[in-house]
Amino acid sequence: MIQLFIPLNFLGFIYREIREALINIERLFGLLDAPVKVRDLPAAPELEVSGGSVSFDDVAFAYQADRPILHGVSFTIPAGHTLAVVGASGAGKSTLARLLFRFYDVDGGSISIDGQDIRSVSQESLRQHIGVVPQDTVLFNDTIGFNIAYGRPGASEEEIWQALRMAQLEDFVRRLPQGLDTQVGERGLKLSGGEKQRIAIARVLLKNPPVLILDEATASLDTHSERRILDALNLVSARRTTLAIAHRLSTIVHAEQILVLDHGRIVEQGSHQQLLAANGAYARLWTEQQRASDMDSPLP
Ligand code: ATP
Repeated sequence: MIQLFIPLNFLGFIYREIREALINIERLFGLLDAPVKVRDLPAAPELEVSGGSVSFDDVAFAYQADRPILHGVSFTIPAGHTLAVVGASGAGKSTLARLLFRFYDVDGGSISIDGQDIRSVSQESLRQHIGVVPQDTVLFNDTIGFNIAYGRPGASEEEIWQALRMAQLEDFVRRLPQGLDTQVGERGLKLSGGEKQRIAIARVLLKNPPVLILDEATASLDTHSERRILDALNLVSARRTTLAIAHRLSTIVHAEQILVLDHGRIVEQGSHQQLLAANGAYARLWTEQQRASDMDSPLP
């Protein structure tokens, strides 16, 4: 029995490792092509997080040498605060998030968490401290329970329910005949974009990381699901250092800092009110989006 148990246990470990590798590549920001591998320094120490303040200092980056994407980007997110990044499609918003997760190394400048350059610490420890709610959540062909507990293997059932409650999914799962054991994914229950995103939120709540990356879904959700997701997102980002990539400005009006990126440069920075008063790029984006959403709403 023991002889059988050990190899199966080991296979389970490999299975989990492979799935982890797959999800690391796939889950973030719709990346389909595997990025160039970044390497740990020999004997890289673990990241030590006290509050989790995040700093970009004069960051420059290009995916291909002849096409720079980010130019001298500097900002600090104090521990526990939220910084939202807005800007036109292709401005480089998701690239900031990929760099913070260290999918790529910067070409110039540095990124640090609590004063430690993220290139100097082990990738594993860096990623343990960062939670991600991506635009498109990849679900495993497994149970709802597994998909959430993946955030923290070994979590108890009670902790999973608590995460579901906070992510506003508890009622939904309680109504399923097989509850947490319901199979999801290609061969199981199909979930809507909003439900999948709330699964990602529950996963992060369970992982409980000090630093959070939110890549807001671009897909339009109905007002009811949008409200529920916003409530859940507000809860998950409270007291965590959050880098929020915003595609719709209505979702980030309460962020402590908003940064406007244009062709890889910061062109404006401030609160929603300050940026509206400045009457610049942000105010223009705001007016455009207000007009677009007025056109989308049905006539009275
Ligand atoms: P959106 O709002 O449309 O998601 P974004 O501001 O998040 O856009 P990024 O995804 O950061 O934009 O992309 C910035 C630029 O980098 C774009 O011009 C894009 O084509 C380019 N880019 C993104 N990923 C890669 C990649 N893997 N290889 C090469 N170029 C890339």
